[in-house]
Amino acid sequence: MDVNEFRKYGREMVDYIADYIENIRERTVVHGVQPGYMKELLPDEAPQKGENFSDIMKDIEKIIMPGITHWHSPNFHGYFAAGNSFPSILGDMLSDAIGCIGFSWATSPACTELEVITTDWLGRMIGLPKEFLHSDHGPGGGVIQSTASETVFLCMLAARNKIVNQIKAKNPHMDEMEIIAKLVGYTSDQANSSVPRSGMLGAVRMVKLQTDNTFSLNGVTLREAIEEDKKNGFIPFFLCASLGTTGTCAFDDLETLGPICKEHGIWLHVDAAYAGSAFVCPEFRKYMKGIEYAETLSTNPHKWMLIAFDCSVMWIKNSSYLVDAFNVDPIYLRHENEGRVPDYRHWQIPLGRRFRSLKLWFTLRAYGVEGIQQYIRRHCELAKEFERLILDDGRFEVVAETVMGLVCFKLKGDTILSEKLLEEIMATGKIYIIPAIVRDLYFLRLAICAERTTSEDIRRSFEVIKRATDRVMSMHFV
Ligand code: PLP
Repeated sequence: MDVNEFRKYGREMVDYIADYIENIRERTVVHGVQPGYMKELLPDEAPQKGENFSDIMKDIEKIIMPGITHWHSPNFHGYFAAGNSFPSILGDMLSDAIGCIGFSWATSPACTELEVITTDWLGRMIGLPKEFLHSDHGPGGGVIQSTASETVFLCMLAARNKIVNQIKAKNPHMDEMEIIAKLVGYTSDQANSSVPRSGMLGAVRMVKLQTDNTFSLNGVTLREAIEEDKKNGFIPFFLCASLGTTGTCAFDDLETLGPICKEHGIWLHVDAAYAGSAFVCPEFRKYMKGIEYAETLSTNPHKWMLIAFDCSVMWIKNSSYLVDAFNVDPIYLRHENEGRVPDYRHWQIPLGRRFRSLKLWFTLRAYGVEGIQQYIRRHCELAKEFERLILDDGRFEVVAETVMGLVCFKLKGDTILSEKLLEEIMATGKIYIIPAIVRDLYFLRLAICAERTTSEDIRRSFEVIKRATDRVMSMHFV
């Protein structure tokens, strides 16, 4: 493709994307294909000779779109919001065009420096203590990782390394594996699956502690677990608390957990993958009380801050726990300004890294703090509106408090009714919602996801659910 063709097809692609987003409501939100559908449509081998790009463009609607679930449709209510916006798309375009691999400051200073500035911006926007910011005099700061899962794994490894070094310093005869075998990390029974998985990957015991009746983990439970484990010779070293759990958007009680972590030298990591974005609105900051006890935390602007995947921001109070812990420094990666600016390769697992701060910068500038606050508040209001519709109907119950953009509900009565309801809803293809099971309770989750979801969309989604409920009830009670 030469530069003129790129101009032509680039413009066509931007038009295609604009039309796609503008008219996304008209598309059936759920894909309509069976496994292997694409094998029927594409040859077994790559073409020998290059094809005309207009032929490739034609295949998008024919081959790709039938297999797409439209995550940015206002009718998509699964999981949590997946961020996206026009400024973010433009940021990714430019990042792809520049295509630098910014593993050290020297490989493209703008890539590192914009990340330093935008993670500080974001940290201030959500009210983080200054110890988490690069601009503070300490060793803290933010970094963009690809996912919250990768972050929890990395933080757990840093915590593991820290405790192993501490114990070895006091007991030089002990070997590393012997210490690791005694380590115990904690999280709640509501934590995202990535947290127990980080334990598996890092070969440490990760215990899921029971939450209370609001699905929140508190200090009493943590203290009991620590005391019991210490009695049995284990070494508590890590807690991953959640602000906004995946199942019900519940909040662990950092105010009681934090002091216990401090007392026992336990690394507190806070996973605020979804809810962290809401802290840009001061009225939601009550849920992050106690954040000053955290050593690390992460939130995903790629969930709820209008940024396209991947952009998961992690902050650490003392970056030397990462930089010194996993420092492999061959000569070809070194440069003369080392130490004056972060070399982000030390702050992450991979070596290579994209220029992800561009899309963060574009989006924060294009919306401003107020634009993002408005977007978050509108989602929360729409969730409340849906909750009112559900409750007014009389046939449903809400199973967890609706705090942000997620409503957890079920049909009153047997679980089978809610299971049937989900089948009926999904068979319409009109909206997309997913189920969850929390402590044997089966329920449905409706998340407000798309940027441009309106009150009318929510009423339409509710109508789909209402009609599906009528069908379930008529089948059940004949
Ligand atoms: N933590 C929470 C609370 C989540 O809800 C999710 C995903 O929904 C994750 C972590 C995992 O996020 P990621 O896909 O960025 O790893």
